[in-house]
Amino acid sequence: MTQWLNESIRLAVSMFLAVGLLIAGGLAAFVVTPLLAAETAAGASLPVDVTPLADLKRRRLVVYENLKDLEFEYQAGKIAAQDYQSLKQNYLGEAAALMATSQVTEQLKETDAVLEREIAARRALRKAPPPQDYVCPRCGYENPVPVKFCGECGTRINH
Ligand SMILES: [Zn+2]
Repeated sequence: MTQWLNESIRLAVSMFLAVGLLIAGGLAAFVVTPLLAAETAAGASLPVDVTPLADLKRRRLVVYENLKDLEFEYQAGKIAAQDYQSLKQNYLGEAAALMATSQVTEQLKETDAVLEREIAARRALRKAPPPQDYVCPRCGYENPVPVKFCGECGTRINH
């Protein structure tokens, strides 16, 4: 009788644990899926498939997922401590490398933006009309430097 009762309790406990795990897994998927979906939606508006930064971020998310799974399997006793440690180091290294690449990409993007602004400023400068000092009031000639007399017609230019 007690034997049977013990079996039942053990069965009930393990089923309870299994259901708990399922719910936890479902919740994790529920939390992660919108994140990935949002990323995909953001990338979809771009002409290219994904931006390099979004791709790096997604790959980092995958590494974090793998790390979480690894932790879980280790806790469940499915992986030897030594394997766990080396796999974990691999994943952490991968995550760090992806993070570093993201930062470099971000910096390059910033540098590009700065350069583009500079180029635009220089272009605007080149297109800007010459200062009045350069332009002859009589013939309209644009002298290349500020002058006292027009290089074209000799008219005195008042500064
Ligand atoms: Zn002139």
